[in-house]
Amino acid sequence: MYTAHPDRYADMPYRRTGRSGLKLPALSLGLWHNFGPDRSVETQRAILRRAFDLGVTHFDLANNYGPPPGAAESALGEFLKTDFAPYRDELVISTKAGYLMWPGPYGEWGSRKYVLSSLDQSLKRMGLDYVDVFYSHRPDPDTPLEETMGALHSAVQQGKALYVGVSNYSAEQTREAARILGELGTPLLIHQPRYSMLDRRPEDEGLLDALDELQVGSIVFSPLEQGVLSARYLDGIPEGSRAASDSPFLNSDALTEDLVGRLRGLNDIAKGRGQTLAQMALAWVLRGGRVTSALVGASSAQQIEDSVGAIRNLDFDADELARIDAIVKQ
Ligand code: NDP
Repeated sequence: MYTAHPDRYADMPYRRTGRSGLKLPALSLGLWHNFGPDRSVETQRAILRRAFDLGVTHFDLANNYGPPPGAAESALGEFLKTDFAPYRDELVISTKAGYLMWPGPYGEWGSRKYVLSSLDQSLKRMGLDYVDVFYSHRPDPDTPLEETMGALHSAVQQGKALYVGVSNYSAEQTREAARILGELGTPLLIHQPRYSMLDRRPEDEGLLDALDELQVGSIVFSPLEQGVLSARYLDGIPEGSRAASDSPFLNSDALTEDLVGRLRGLNDIAKGRGQTLAQMALAWVLRGGRVTSALVGASSAQQIEDSVGAIRNLDFDADELARIDAIVKQ
């Protein structure tokens, strides 16, 4: 039997999501990888327990996480029935619909037909009556935004989601989504973009400005660039790492000599701050309080513990920021 750590709320900062009543932990855990049959149930359990014991109250999923698609939701469903059964009201659980989930014309994108049936399937896999946040996972170029946002609004009206979000939407699409949802009476809670020291598109393309203006929260994915922004690859590509796998999202070709040289430079700055490189990368996206939560993955309990250690130093001086930029942008 699992009993959550009594001091789990002692250290983690909780940040208000936009202008909503919902606070999210500065660090959230994503189940995109490591929660399919390729990782042992013991490891999965250890990651989730350690995360919750450290105040990580938010687990992020999507219909297609696994692999295979659906496996992560099914795995979490088992842990929700056992370890986390007494803690449902202490958890924020999100899921999404948008990417390919089943064959045929109704298994992806943003139609009302797909979005609402996908949510029903997700709830069934997780054994839940409702999710806390339900997202449109990607914009659909062919479905009117009114239809996709209308489906999110219906999910809330049906009691199947408490809040709604969008992911991978541009600044302009986000403004439009917020306007439509506002008119329907279901405010846009949050946006989930990719953002890291190495991927600054949310800054460069005006998304963070739009979110500030709309008072919508943000939870940023792949803040470690899938593990690249950590000490994991400083001395080669370790067995069992994401880059060593056949993941279409990260492979050994990405770890060029030039990149590893830059990572070594960043690692030196992190050491000077008394942090691991992963901790500094997470602190960097959280600096200044603009981003609500950094959404990390973990393949072990030690990794989530290391990542949560970022909260001990979230501030940067101008010199550190300039040195980081000089390395990343050179
Ligand atoms: P990260 O950038 O946090 O990468 C996670 C990987 O980094 C881990 O699997 C591990 O790699 C390595 N790692 C984690 N912590 C440490 C550490 N402390 N030290 C060294 N290495 C570490 O995020 P992900 O790319 O996994 O994405 C996080 C979440 O974001 C997903 O689970 C999902 O919820 C969400 N997401 C959303 C998307 C969207 O379209 N909305 C798209 C992608 C992700 P290893 O396995 O090699 O040990």
